[in-house]
Amino acid sequence: AEELVRKSELLSVIGQMAAGVAHEIRNPLTSLKGFVQLLRAYPEGKDEYFGIMLSELDRIEFIISEFLVLAKPQVILQRKREMRPLLEQIVMIADTHAIMHNVQIITSYAENLPSIVCEENQLKQVFLNLLKNAVEAMPNGGEVKVTAAVEGETMVIAFSDQGCGISQEQLAKLGEPFFTTKPNGTGLGLMVSYKIIANHGGTISVRSGEGTGTTFEIRLPIG
Ligand code: ADP
Ligand code: MG
Repeated sequence: AEELVRKSELLSVIGQMAAGVAHEIRNPLTSLKGFVQLLRAYPEGKDEYFGIMLSELDRIEFIISEFLVLAKPQVILQRKREMRPLLEQIVMIADTHAIMHNVQIITSYAENLPSIVCEENQLKQVFLNLLKNAVEAMPNGGEVKVTAAVEGETMVIAFSDQGCGISQEQLAKLGEPFFTTKPNGTGLGLMVSYKIIANHGGTISVRSGEGTGTTFEIRLPIG
């Protein structure tokens, strides 16, 4: 009976996800269909339509590629990677985005951070997702702290912001597909990040105070 319950729970999770994906993809598809019809009627309008059509296609492509991460079975982790250069690279990429939002990224890494066996591009994606969220949580600017340290056999990487914080009610929904509070958010970043870190045998935890800021902490096994 227990097995049956688990299976039906799983099915309902899959059903909810499928409904979410269908819903999120239907909107840009409906818009694309409208533009194709417009183009057939008024072929001379094409220049301005194409920009909008391409951005709708980009959105569909993005949603699908995020979901493909979930479809992948356990990743094969075979490369030892140093975390420091990896973090530095991501902070550099995020910096342009941060400066535009009046946000300063401050880093503090322990010396001699060890290497981690990982899928480099996936970890980069996680770091970038968390950094972007931190910046986006501070519409009036502020500081984001990125720290990396070692605790025993664990690497601890944290991203702290001074942003809006997350309410108790919203905390429970983090990582659910399509949960977003942003007008143009997808609500896929955390879902994908949780999945990637779990595949690496790690965990992500969140501490947040409404109005004071949020810390996302990643713990990854070393070795
Ligand atoms: P998106 O960024 O597209 O909304 P995410 O999965 O990255 O999707 O995040 C989901 C939601 O979690 C965000 O819309 C926001 O409400 C909340 N959130 C995530 N990170 C933070 C943060 N650092 N500060 C405040 N809220 C956050
Ligand atoms: Mg995000």
